[in-house]
Amino acid sequence: MRRPAHLHVSRYINYSPLADGRSVLAVHGYSLAVDIFNRRLAGSLMEDDLQPCRDDKALEDLLTQRGYLTGRSAEEESTFISGVRALFSRKRPVVTDFILELGDCTSIDPHSTSLEQAFLAINEIKGVESGGSLEIDLRGLGSGREDRAREATGLARDWGLRTHLTISHEQLAETVKLLKSYQAARVTLCVRNPDSSWIQTHDDVAHADLLPFRHILEIISLQTEVEVLIVVDDIDDNTVNLLFQNINGLRTRIHADANRLLTAVPVTEREDFLVPKNAGSVSVLPIRWSELFDYRQLQGYIWSPQLVRFQPSFLSFRRVFRINASGNINLTVNPGRKRAVVGSISREAYELDRGLLEQMSVAQTVNDLPDECRTCTLSLICGSNCRTAEAGEKEHFREKLQRLGSLLLLNVHQASAS
Ligand code: SF4
Repeated sequence: MRRPAHLHVSRYINYSPLADGRSVLAVHGYSLAVDIFNRRLAGSLMEDDLQPCRDDKALEDLLTQRGYLTGRSAEEESTFISGVRALFSRKRPVVTDFILELGDCTSIDPHSTSLEQAFLAINEIKGVESGGSLEIDLRGLGSGREDRAREATGLARDWGLRTHLTISHEQLAETVKLLKSYQAARVTLCVRNPDSSWIQTHDDVAHADLLPFRHILEIISLQTEVEVLIVVDDIDDNTVNLLFQNINGLRTRIHADANRLLTAVPVTEREDFLVPKNAGSVSVLPIRWSELFDYRQLQGYIWSPQLVRFQPSFLSFRRVFRINASGNINLTVNPGRKRAVVGSISREAYELDRGLLEQMSVAQTVNDLPDECRTCTLSLICGSNCRTAEAGEKEHFREKLQRLGSLLLLNVHQASAS
């Protein structure tokens, strides 16, 4: 690596102390590096003390590569950021995702043309926009209804959509069969009220090809990411612990390169869930269902080898279209959590309220940021503004980063310690 003659600590590092008291979440404002430092290293960087890096060249190289150390002076960084802002001055960073829910007795029936209409609507809304994804939620389908899943995944492939599948744990075996002829980017597996097969002992999982773990390994062998969502509300602590232990046991059986393909996330459906004060005494700490997107982002960014540099995308303007099993198209816009029904699907046609859609799709640009955000070292990542955050999110972006970072850290530690 070419090392600049004089290294400085970047002015664009944001530090958030995490709940274990020993770690700090570091977020770099323009390289988009998100990492966990020990408090001592964070303390040295905050005080512009480069001695720990001088003593350890590998650490210095890593911190330079991730943007925390830079050859730019404070003024040069500020000029550089103005240039980046100018690049994005008229761009509206919008991410559009779709969720298609399939059910047994619904208007979205693959034997009629309604499923095709749903895909036509998706493609009209999507337009030429790249990125975004389609999640096909199969949890409403009864057993033996793979034909419906096949039809939907086949159409997604024909339209070239990057697809995720959401399934219940009872649908695991059918999904393995489906994935042999259709590749999905991710399978989200929701486990609630797991039977005894999920809580076999760690040794069983490590040494025997037991179901359902064998199915998970089969999916991973197809290069499909598996995210296990453990709904903790109705399960006792001991079961939750065993489940996490088993998922960890499974991770040790996967080649290190494929390790990232398996994650476990505890979730709660209780909107009133609060992080317990004595976090060390509980097993794992669930996130609210509605925070899954942010948690996934954070989890994917921590020590990610791919820095996104300059793209104001971490929490950009996001539109989620959910086509539910009765054929309504619901739009949720974040930040601000605006919601509306913007269309419907029938057997013969789809309808969109194009005026409402446009009205709800006015994204901000970096130029629209209010004064308090202009000088903020997170503004390229946050993509939001304080007023919107106050109105709709109830929690400032910095606090959210700190809370979700703490949950992520504690979950990893608790799960590996159990
Ligand atoms: S809302 Fe504004 S001040 Fe807050 S993190 Fe985002 S850009 Fe910074």
